[in-house]
Amino acid sequence: MILAEKSGLRLGIYPVLDILTPALEVYQSTRTGGESDPPFDSLNIGLNVGDRVTHVRKNRKLLLEATGTPPHRLARAEQVHGARISVVERAGLYGDVDGLITAKKDLALAVSTADCFPVIVYAASERILAALHVGHGGATAGIIEKGIDLMRRLYTIDAANCVALIGPGICWRCYEVGKELASRFAGRYQKNIKGRLHLDLQSFCSEELKRNGIPAGRIYESGHCTSCDPDLFYSHRRDGKSTGRHWTLARIRNT
Ligand SMILES: [Zn+2]
Repeated sequence: MILAEKSGLRLGIYPVLDILTPALEVYQSTRTGGESDPPFDSLNIGLNVGDRVTHVRKNRKLLLEATGTPPHRLARAEQVHGARISVVERAGLYGDVDGLITAKKDLALAVSTADCFPVIVYAASERILAALHVGHGGATAGIIEKGIDLMRRLYTIDAANCVALIGPGICWRCYEVGKELASRFAGRYQKNIKGRLHLDLQSFCSEELKRNGIPAGRIYESGHCTSCDPDLFYSHRRDGKSTGRHWTLARIRNT
């Protein structure tokens, strides 16, 4: 993922998509260029985090305009740290789900995060898109497997032709966890720093994508940790409850 200026915002983009699968368009918002005051400065996209609603609405407008996304072409999941997924054809906020799948062109799917991983899966041949919110809850509930499985069953996609992106999230060095949470993950995802347990959720996402048939060479990681980079990203772990959210926006181009 590299950063690009777009209408005054710094957005993450994946140039590899232009070569690999130009029909997929993905933008990652960062915290710069918005209206919010500290500690939500400045492009906070999340409501219900303590920021002023007027600022969040303005920030959303800025992001949607910069990415060419009309509000009536935006679908969002409520995100409840589970593994339920909705197949959608229309804009709107979908309750009680953490993942969205669409075959609809020009419908942007959003994932909201501040440490959890946004995972985008795109079946290039069949033109099917999935956007998943993967925190430790969704990860252990199997949201990645469920997403790919659903794409297979409903649209007979071939995972070998899929492209997957793992957006910015918390790196294992920043992600200290308790014994109970660590024990829900295989030993290889548990790291030890000076006797403290840490969890490598990014590797988990990558391995899950591979285990479900996506070739390693078609999985791209953003290379950014939300907690390591306070200038660009919000981090719930680093900043506590009073922090903002970013959106990852993905859509199938109408071409
Ligand atoms: Zn980090």
